[in-house]
Amino acid sequence: MPVETDGKNPIPTPESKHIGGSLLLWLLMLMFINLVFWAQPSQKRVPYSTFVSQVEAGKVIRAEIGTEKIRYELKPDANAQQSKIRPKEVYLTTPIPNDTELPKILRTHQVEYSASTANSAAWVWVLLSWVIPPVIFLSMLGFMFNRSGMDSPAALTIGKSKARIYAEGSTGVTFDDVAGVDEAKTELREIVDFLKNATKYVRLGAKIPKGVLLVGPPGTGKTLLAKAIAGEAGVPFFTISGSEFIELFVGIGAARVRDLFEQAKQKAPCIVFIDELDALGKSREGFGNMLGGNDEREQTLNQLLSEMDGFETNTGVIILAATNRPEVLDPALLRPGRFDRQIVVDRPDKIGREAILKIHAKNVKLGEDVDLAKLAARTPGFAGADLANLVNEAALLAARENHDAVTMQDLNEAVERVLTGLEKKSRVLNEVEKKTVAYHEVGHAIIAAITPGAGNVEKISIVPRGIAALGYTLQLPEEDRFLMTEDEIRGRIVTLLGGRAAEELIFGIISTGASDDIQKATDLAERFVTLYGMSAKLGPVAFEKIQQQFLNSLTNPRRAISEKIAEQIDQEVKEIIDGAHQLALVILQGNQELLQEVADILLEKEVLEGEELRSYLLQVKLPANMHEWLRTGKFAEVNMLISSHSS
Ligand code: ADP
Ligand code: MG
Ligand code: ZN
Repeated sequence: MPVETDGKNPIPTPESKHIGGSLLLWLLMLMFINLVFWAQPSQKRVPYSTFVSQVEAGKVIRAEIGTEKIRYELKPDANAQQSKIRPKEVYLTTPIPNDTELPKILRTHQVEYSASTANSAAWVWVLLSWVIPPVIFLSMLGFMFNRSGMDSPAALTIGKSKARIYAEGSTGVTFDDVAGVDEAKTELREIVDFLKNATKYVRLGAKIPKGVLLVGPPGTGKTLLAKAIAGEAGVPFFTISGSEFIELFVGIGAARVRDLFEQAKQKAPCIVFIDELDALGKSREGFGNMLGGNDEREQTLNQLLSEMDGFETNTGVIILAATNRPEVLDPALLRPGRFDRQIVVDRPDKIGREAILKIHAKNVKLGEDVDLAKLAARTPGFAGADLANLVNEAALLAARENHDAVTMQDLNEAVERVLTGLEKKSRVLNEVEKKTVAYHEVGHAIIAAITPGAGNVEKISIVPRGIAALGYTLQLPEEDRFLMTEDEIRGRIVTLLGGRAAEELIFGIISTGASDDIQKATDLAERFVTLYGMSAKLGPVAFEKIQQQFLNSLTNPRRAISEKIAEQIDQEVKEIIDGAHQLALVILQGNQELLQEVADILLEKEVLEGEELRSYLLQVKLPANMHEWLRTGKFAEVNMLISSHSS
């Protein structure tokens, strides 16, 4: 609570009022009143001995005997004699001694007596202990619903779906705002046409699909496509995210699904879009069950399945869903009659990237030197969201530098930023570290210049960037690649180990700077063996199961394999790494002078790129049998000749 310190009277901060809280307040007041009532001074407490002597004097008519005290009434005539005491007045004893004689005494003096079940104060407490917990619970509930902005009475709106409904055009997005996913667009246009001209299809006996699933990596424009459909369709468009179905209370998600479909059927023809379907439709087999507590999701999923089965084809409701993890979806969802149509929304190719860049550059003032086709060529693997981000970063950079327009240089810097993180000029390296980083990066660059598949070395820098990188070598492929050959993977591993090899060769002492390279090299070597089946010894057997098609994750689980095979895999991986390491050392040894020269220049300039860098890298000499190792993983001769680099 904020406390006012400057004034003498602190100003009370207004408290938010809600039903639950005021109920609790009322109850507390009631309790207080009760206590006051029961503790009235008219109930006099007298010593037990007084009570007994009053009984023996024949003054008591009736007594109620509790465990701790006795309430008793005096005879009216006895009252009259004692002027101070009014009739009907009740007396209490102090706590009773354990007196077994009492019933006998009462009987002999003909007192009407009974046992009281509970004394009055205890009765109040029993009552309160029953009333307070539910009141606290209810007021907490009330508080929660108030917080979540639900309108009261809260209980009635719990099961309502939170789907937003868009009318035609209200999303402001059309198919023109989506690029690079032409196949998906064509298919979705068809769906829109189904809805607009349903009779045309139905007349010919065609069945309009019920469920359409958009699958693809994150950021490729699935949600955007759905919004574009809403903009184009000319029919009501319900949208809800899978995670919004998952609720705190079991059964509410299912109620939401029911409500959503209820609304949709009334508004048909219409589109229901469920984004992030995987949040809701995770396979019921597998690890989900071990975690427990997935009852809610299961109920919601079942409700969805039965709703999808429940309406006939051609009712004019099309369910659209999007996910980037189709492999975790429950197989029941993908059955015919449910999401039987799948549309892949993949990362864009070069032409697609250029088109996407054009869309996002529309609102940005571009300099005359900007060539979006070139930029598209430099950004293979970028999804639509990355490209949108790239344009925005460039605009921010240009603004910070007070440029009149966004220049190509801003855009190039933005590419690096997206790839490697922000420059960290504040991270100051000492001289030894700087030297280590310089040789390390030049080591990468020299090897990358002569190994296949890795693309051109565009830039080397020893300006720290991002979270971990102290320096970096920027390699950009010339073209989009969809396949990698065996020698290219080995070449990539050699390049990754080039940094460490340079440190070994020059300083004879190694640093922790290579840990990320080593991690990547080992991952690649392992995939070489277990996923791509490229090891000659183990053959084309997959020892890993691909689980995350679109997420580029390395954490695929292994198949069940014998210990012997596991050992062989480890051996093969080690052999690849060792061979690559050796080759890296040999290459750098053969180019030691160049390595030193370039590292010196890099230390001075901090960044090397363009023509200057290219002229150095053209001087790299390559070992005679390098290509043989890259192809086969075997060295024919131990001593390698160095031939000059001519390509
Ligand atoms: P997803 O749902 O596939 O993860 P989104 O649709 O949310 O991706 O994309 C995020 C943003 O990236 C979009 O709002 C848009 O600005 C941009 N974007 C992604 N893909 C494209 C594309 N194909 N064309 C144009 N912009 C795109
Ligand atoms: Mg999305
Ligand atoms: Zn490195």
